[in-house]
Amino acid sequence: MKSHVQAVVIGGGVVGCSVLYHLVKAGWKDVMLLERDQLTVGSTWHAAGGFHTLNGDPNVAKLQGYTIGLYDELEKISGQSCSLHRSGGLMLADTKERMEWLKMAHARARYLGLETELLTMAEAKALHPLLEERYFVGAMLDKADGNLDPSGTTHAYAKAARIGGAEISLKTMVQALNPRTDGGWDLVTNQGTIQAEHVVNCGGLWAREIGRMVGIELPVLAMEHMYLVTDEMPEVVEFNKQYGHELPHAIDFKSEIYLRQERSGMVLGTYERDGVPWQPRDTPWDFGSELLIPDLDRIAPNLELGQKHFPALERAGIKTVINGPFTFSPDGNPLVGPVPGLRNYWCACAVMAGFSQGGGVGLALSQWMVNGDPGFDVWGMDVARYGDWATRSYTNAKVRENYAKRFSIRFPNEELPAARPHQTTPLYDILRSRGAVMGDSWGLETPLWFAPEGTEAADIFSFHRSNDFPHVGNECRGVRSSVGVTEIANFAKYTVAGPGAAAFLDRLMTNSLPAPGRLKLTPMLNHGGKLIGDFTIAQTKDGRSLIWGSSQAQKHHMRWFEAEMPRDGSVTITRHDMGLVGLSIAGPKSRELLQALTDEDVSNSGFKFMEHRAFDVANVPALVNRISYTGDLGYEIWVAPEYERRLYQEIVAKGTPLGLVHFGMRALLCLRLEKNFPTWYRELRPIYGPIEAGLDRFIDFDKGDFIGRAAAIRERDTGGTLRRVSFVVDATDAEALGDEPVWHGGKVVGWVTSGGYGHSVGASLAQAYVPKELAEDTAPGAFELEIIGERRPATLILEPLFDPSGRKMRG
Ligand SMILES: Cc1cc2nc3c(=O)[nH]c(=O)nc-3n(C[C@H](O)[C@H](O)[C@H](O)COP(=O)(O)OP(=O)(O)OC[C@H]3O[C@@H](n4cnc5c(N)ncnc54)[C@H](O)[C@@H]3O)c2cc1C
Repeated sequence: MKSHVQAVVIGGGVVGCSVLYHLVKAGWKDVMLLERDQLTVGSTWHAAGGFHTLNGDPNVAKLQGYTIGLYDELEKISGQSCSLHRSGGLMLADTKERMEWLKMAHARARYLGLETELLTMAEAKALHPLLEERYFVGAMLDKADGNLDPSGTTHAYAKAARIGGAEISLKTMVQALNPRTDGGWDLVTNQGTIQAEHVVNCGGLWAREIGRMVGIELPVLAMEHMYLVTDEMPEVVEFNKQYGHELPHAIDFKSEIYLRQERSGMVLGTYERDGVPWQPRDTPWDFGSELLIPDLDRIAPNLELGQKHFPALERAGIKTVINGPFTFSPDGNPLVGPVPGLRNYWCACAVMAGFSQGGGVGLALSQWMVNGDPGFDVWGMDVARYGDWATRSYTNAKVRENYAKRFSIRFPNEELPAARPHQTTPLYDILRSRGAVMGDSWGLETPLWFAPEGTEAADIFSFHRSNDFPHVGNECRGVRSSVGVTEIANFAKYTVAGPGAAAFLDRLMTNSLPAPGRLKLTPMLNHGGKLIGDFTIAQTKDGRSLIWGSSQAQKHHMRWFEAEMPRDGSVTITRHDMGLVGLSIAGPKSRELLQALTDEDVSNSGFKFMEHRAFDVANVPALVNRISYTGDLGYEIWVAPEYERRLYQEIVAKGTPLGLVHFGMRALLCLRLEKNFPTWYRELRPIYGPIEAGLDRFIDFDKGDFIGRAAAIRERDTGGTLRRVSFVVDATDAEALGDEPVWHGGKVVGWVTSGGYGHSVGASLAQAYVPKELAEDTAPGAFELEIIGERRPATLILEPLFDPSGRKMRG
């Protein structure tokens, strides 16, 4: 065994072996995998081996598509069979809503380049005669679905990695990880100590324990999962004889079962509602290739319904029942990437569908390690998407909820209730008593909309316009006609200070720094010139920089800041979290309201657009930005949390006579659509360049070098390939929300990033990316957006519908 390597992968499950293979493929040959026992002894060996492309996050779906496409290559390189059965898969809808969901998934697959087909039940029955079609209303076929041999596939990755030069050491247990002063790690194992520059935690069921070796608690938990294997079934034998191929996979959402052919019988697994976590605190080190005791009573209701839907199952004998644990993160997607706060410690864990996702995870992580960038949009599986609030008990509640909802419809306006409220601001109870319907924003309760008295403060989940529509409409119109107040505590806020701060930020951000007392908007790019952040920066009169950004990306951004900041102590960065909370007031009467709360001159000339200043508001010390994401005249007022109630109460007292309305995040997002403003995570993501996103005016090419400048110049000179555009949509009772295909000339040419109703302008609006050549085609209805399976005409607009000249926000 080597004593010094460039990278050590800990764990020989399917994920570790995939990471090892991809590291070799990406060019690192001096790599090693350590497995405490034999390959596959964690959750891998007892997997049901199914694979599919469907995922709620399109970028994860793309990586799943990559994984499934990889197996032929893997077999060829390794000479090891994966026992692939590319039988295709059916998803069966039992309700209109589920069918709508399938239509949306089908539409999304179009722009992802994945092939799916919507079927009538007669067509589905012809493909899968075992199903009883009267229980379903329609189906979707995904020809890419299938199954494989988990052990063969894991060994295929391992062999291919070995052929490429990697070493695998079995019976080698990592017992401790000690950081080295050179940034690398000493791995203490039962076979001696190994020095490595990089360590990758692919510990699967033991990922938490390998995290604890370096003082972190990863949000990951194993759940028990059961599937049955039936005896030979005459119906299956007959089908195979008649058609000469296997039955397709099937997912029956109603009974929460998946099933596929296994030899001449069937495999049938469940995602039951009252799933049980396995070893919620510590995974025993002596657990290996044993199975858990099955609990058929727990899944009896699912089996009963499944037998009704597939009557042949009722007559089938059960050969085996498998109950095994496998791991999940709180949202069910993997945890991948460099762990914030640690040097050269990477993870690829919580991979709940190793045979759909393992290849994509390996590819993304290896590129990240070798090239410094994953090469994909991996936001949906970045380990940095969770903050410290994702504690063990939070993870436990969320993982159980996610497991229970694995086969449930997830609506766009659905806020999942488990582990909430978790973080709250001082206004939580007051806003609730005013009818606030709360949403979860990076673990913080944030008002979404306000139910007027006599209206239930709860969402009715739907893909269509729902019960919040008229109320959000009133909130938007109230802001535009008088003044509104909303809580914005969920924004990320940072202070950057120290003698090196200005030079550091100048290199990090595309825009030049604002003058003292001023604000500027600035994107942040990675070295390849793609968007990894979008911020508001204020320069204080005493030389500090205050920065506001996306709440969801704050750990991700801190990781980037810390990686890029000078190591000589000349820069300090503080993340404020709930140490700084805020309220935004916006609308034509917001100046009058602010003036009523302060003796500072806040007239248009006294406090100009994009100015930042510290002064007392409602007698409390505040930082005030003259800016508003509503695109209207407006102010953000930031205070320490102990002052927030006072500030709020004074705003309400002085604002009520002016017609003050409360508005929530949903109204804010509609209002910004009326201004064509982009939002981080939807329009602004690392798959887009700044010119493509229309952020040209926030790049100061003349200020000198900054990260991504060379690539941004190339993009400016070539124009890039895409453009962010805005549409007015001829929608009926449902808006485009995001991830719908954009059609032009009978072809899918792009995708929607977000949409909503512009209540103050009376139009359904959407933003999307299309090829730049089409970005000025403003012919009425030249485009179509596919909303819940229906292509709706859309007209591209070059100017925002609200205040195109920007006079209102500046005036
Ligand atoms: C019943 C069941 C059915 C499933 N069905 C499917 C399916 O149909 N399709 C699908 O895609 N997925 C399925 N899965 C999930 C799939 O098994 C997992 O996604 C996959 O196994 C995750 O692999 P992994 O490499 O992350 O973890 P693991 O397989 O748990 O591997 C982790 C490895 O790390 C090693 N290790 C841990 N700590 C150390 C240490 N300190 N030193 C050295 N080595 C260490 C362990 O020994 C282990 O081999 C199923 C799971 C179960 C339980």
